[in-house]
Amino acid sequence: METSDDRQAGGSAAAALTAGALLASHIVRAIGVRKVFRLGGEEVQALKGVDFKVRRGEYVAIMGPSGSGKSTLFNMIGGLDKPNAGRVFIDEVDIAALSTTELAWLRCHKIGYIFQTFNLIPVATALDNVMLPMLFADLPQAEAQDKAVALLRRVGLGDRVLHKPVQMSGGQQQRVAVARALANDPAIVLADEPTGNLDSATGRQIIELLRAINREEGVTVICATHDHKMLSAADRIAWLTDGVIERFVDRADLEIREGHTSVKNSQEGA
Ligand code: ADP
Ligand code: MG
Repeated sequence: METSDDRQAGGSAAAALTAGALLASHIVRAIGVRKVFRLGGEEVQALKGVDFKVRRGEYVAIMGPSGSGKSTLFNMIGGLDKPNAGRVFIDEVDIAALSTTELAWLRCHKIGYIFQTFNLIPVATALDNVMLPMLFADLPQAEAQDKAVALLRRVGLGDRVLHKPVQMSGGQQQRVAVARALANDPAIVLADEPTGNLDSATGRQIIELLRAINREEGVTVICATHDHKMLSAADRIAWLTDGVIERFVDRADLEIREGHTSVKNSQEGA
């Protein structure tokens, strides 16, 4: 249960983040981020000093094979896990400096998440799934319901509001997840291989939806993928290999063909 202290902390986080937002052209800035997992006696260096900047309103794809560190990087940016070294700034606020409550506020209001496996609540309707983050954010029930219906219409599911996940196709479930990610008007959407469980045509529709939301609502989108066909929506692509960002490439410098991508002109840094 949220206390008035929590609300105040949320309020000051909101103020700091809003003040930051006015100054920052980079909505995300990760500097020298390292993450080591220890499993039994073994050490896995999932991120080996990643520098990664994203401008407000950009659509950035993170391209990398399975195990390259994409999800780990997302967890750092989303404040779900902490780096062993390095810093992550969201709107120029160092998220390591936030209290638990402030971090919870940031995760709830600033960032929307979309996962490969949709992660919907199976027993809840599309409407309830989309309303849930708004109720966490203390939006009154009636407002949350109206907004959830509007969001479900926005993603093309106006006629599936009362369907449960098992009554929907994978593509429809992922649309519900997109609507849920937008519930609290996030500045950033983190999509972790959102098309990984979908056929190509359906996957492409989800990418087009994310692109439309990026363009029309100005939401910054960061989308992890290992599918070359999903790169065409991106303004910029970061290539992640074995915990290291090898290069950034602007969309204009890429030639994307089925199953093959070549770089016309590569550029270091962001
Ligand atoms: P990707 O999302 O690109 O497939 P991940 O970020 O999931 O890659 O994983 C990067 C590396 O870190 C992999 O070698 C993976 O096995 C390892 N890893 C990820 N999470 C953990 C964990 N909780 N414990 C141990 N190793 C992990
Ligand atoms: Mg992953």
